[in-house]
Amino acid sequence: MARYLKGIYMDNREKAKKVLDILEKEFPSVTTALNFSNPLELLIATILSAQATDKLVNKVTDTLFRKYRGAEDYAGASPEELEKAIGSVNFYRNKAKSLRGCCKKIMEDFGGRVPDTLEDLVTLPGVGRKTANIVLGNAFGKPALAVDTHVKRVSQRLGLTASDDPDEIEADLTSVIPGKRWTRTTHLFIMHGRTTCVARNPRCPVCKITACCEYFKTVFKK
Ligand code: SF4
Repeated sequence: MARYLKGIYMDNREKAKKVLDILEKEFPSVTTALNFSNPLELLIATILSAQATDKLVNKVTDTLFRKYRGAEDYAGASPEELEKAIGSVNFYRNKAKSLRGCCKKIMEDFGGRVPDTLEDLVTLPGVGRKTANIVLGNAFGKPALAVDTHVKRVSQRLGLTASDDPDEIEADLTSVIPGKRWTRTTHLFIMHGRTTCVARNPRCPVCKITACCEYFKTVFKK
């Protein structure tokens, strides 16, 4: 989709590149805020992080990961024991159920190892595309773009997608961004969404990517 901007036509491929180049300079060392040392730990932490802060999840997993080392430990734990271990995280009952179900399947179908493909990861209970892509990109180093609420909002405001559906947004973004930048895109858009392009009252006056933003054009250049 070509858009007329500042005297030039900017298509979404070009726009995404420009945005990512600028955000890379702004947040050169941004990465996932969740602590982990292997794919299983990141999978567990990501499941726990739904509607919970990374800080709280890191606090919980600091103890959890010392007690539960492998998928067999979660799969063999009683619901009550696991609920108690993650009790300070919201939705702990459902999350404990996901952890047990997920790890049982890892034991039964994947020999105790977290699978490293999107197709296999999404067969695990409690694991959708977002979680799968986070694990693929950050624990396995594979090209993967995860769409969370920040990625969704930033992409929509920039005009890189017109969709509300995370799967469609992922498809829109991956069609204009090269695979080697997918994982970085998630980190950079999340950081930009947390610090500048916040949900209510985005901080457009201090934003460095206004020239690429449809929202800015609409609101400030009527
Ligand atoms: S100009 Fe405003 S709406 Fe656009 S990306 Fe920046 S902060 Fe978000």
